[in-house]
Amino acid sequence: MSFDTPPSTGCREAPVLRERGQHEVFCGLTGIIWLHRKMQDAFFLVVGSRTCAHLLQSAAGVMIFAEPRFGTAILEETDLAGLADAQVELEREVGRLIARRPDIRQLFLVGSCPSEVIKLDLARAAEKLSVQHAPHVRVLNYSGSGIETTFTQGEDACLASMVPSLPETDARQLMLVGALPDVVEDQARDLLAQMGITDVAILPARRADDPLSVGPNTVFALLQPFLGDTLAALERRGARHLPAPFPFGAEGTTGWLRAVANEFGVDDATFERVTAAPRARATRAVAQAAESLSGKSIFFFPDSQLEIPLARFLTRECGMRAIEVGTPFLHKNILGPDLDLLEAGPQLTEGQDVERQLDRCRAAQPDLTVCGLGLANPLEAEGLATKWAIELVFTPVHFYEQAGDLAGLFSRPMRRRAALKLGAA
Ligand code: SF4
Repeated sequence: MSFDTPPSTGCREAPVLRERGQHEVFCGLTGIIWLHRKMQDAFFLVVGSRTCAHLLQSAAGVMIFAEPRFGTAILEETDLAGLADAQVELEREVGRLIARRPDIRQLFLVGSCPSEVIKLDLARAAEKLSVQHAPHVRVLNYSGSGIETTFTQGEDACLASMVPSLPETDARQLMLVGALPDVVEDQARDLLAQMGITDVAILPARRADDPLSVGPNTVFALLQPFLGDTLAALERRGARHLPAPFPFGAEGTTGWLRAVANEFGVDDATFERVTAAPRARATRAVAQAAESLSGKSIFFFPDSQLEIPLARFLTRECGMRAIEVGTPFLHKNILGPDLDLLEAGPQLTEGQDVERQLDRCRAAQPDLTVCGLGLANPLEAEGLATKWAIELVFTPVHFYEQAGDLAGLFSRPMRRRAALKLGAA
C-alpha cells in the first residue's frame, strides 16, 4: 500500500481488549533522565527511598561529568515510621541545595512510592518553598511514583505541573508540547519558520526565562502521545489541541506538519516547497532500513505509549505486519489520527495482564517483539527477537531527518537475530 492513501478501514473503531492485571513497566522517575537534559536550569529532587536513587543512577548511567541536576532526598526509616518530621527536613535540604547551587532556577520535588505511602504533602512543600525562594527559583511538584503508572507518565506529570503557573497571553501562537532533543526541536522550528509560522512556544522551555505563556488563542500540537494530563491542563487554560498523526517517519511528519499548516493558513505550494526535499530524504532513508523489515511481523507489549504511532509507521512505511499493539492507555482524542491510518487487523490492547499477553506472544511467534527490559531477556532466551521500548524515548526519532534512524532501531535487532541464526547453522 502506498502510504499516501489512508486504509479503507482504520483502527479508530476497532475493538480494544482491555486488561487490568499485573504489568511490567518502569516508573515515572525515568523521565528525569531526559527532562533534566532538556531543561538546562532545572533540578529534579526525588523524595524517595534508596531504591529510587538506584533506579535513577542506573537509568542515567555513569556518564555524569558535571554536577548532576537531579538527586534523591532519601527517606530514612525514621521518616517512614513517622518518627521524624520529613516535611521540615525536606524544606531544610531544599534550602541548602538552593544556597549551594545558584544555577538552579526551577526545582521539581518529585514524589515516589514511599513519599506517597507516608502521605508527604509535596504540593504544600513546593508552595511554601516557592514563596521562600521567589523570584529566583520556582518550586513545583509532581509524582513519578511507580504505583499504577508507566515510565513516560513522568514527563506528562512534570509538564502538567508547569501549566497552571504559565503567564496568560492573548497572542495567537503555536505551542509544541513534549521534550525533544534540542537538535530535533530546532529542525521542527526551522520547517515551521520556512512556512511562515514563527510565533512558536515550546513546553518545556529550555530555560526558566525563555518566553512561554498560554491563553485562548494558543493552539498546541503534541510531540509525544503520552501527554494526556498536560493536554487537559492546557485545555483548562483555554488553549486548543490540534489533533494530528505523530511526527514519526515521512508520513507521520508530513501529516503532523499538514495539520499545523492548515491551522495557520499555509498554502499548498509553500507546504510542498518546504516539505518535498526532506520528505524525499526521509522516504529514501526509511526504504533502506525497511529492507529487512518488510513482510515481518511485530508484537507490541504496552510500555512507552508510543506503540500505536509506531505500529502505524512500521506497517505503512516499512511493510511490517502488526499482530498485537498493546498500549498502557488508549486516548482516542490523542491517537485518533494515527488509529485512522493504522489498517484494521492487529489486536489492540489497553492495559496489561502480563502472563496472558506473554501466552499470546509465544503463540504468535512474532519476528520482532517490542517490550520492556524485564521481558526482553526471557523472550530473547526463548528465541524471539526483541526491541527495548525505552530506547525509543531515549533516541532522537521524530521528524524527517530521524526517520531512517527510527526504522533502523527496528531493523538492527532483526539483522542481529538473522546473523545469530546464520552463525548457529
Ligand atoms: Fe521503585 Fe516506586 Fe521509587 Fe519508582 S518510585 S523506583 S517504583 S519505589
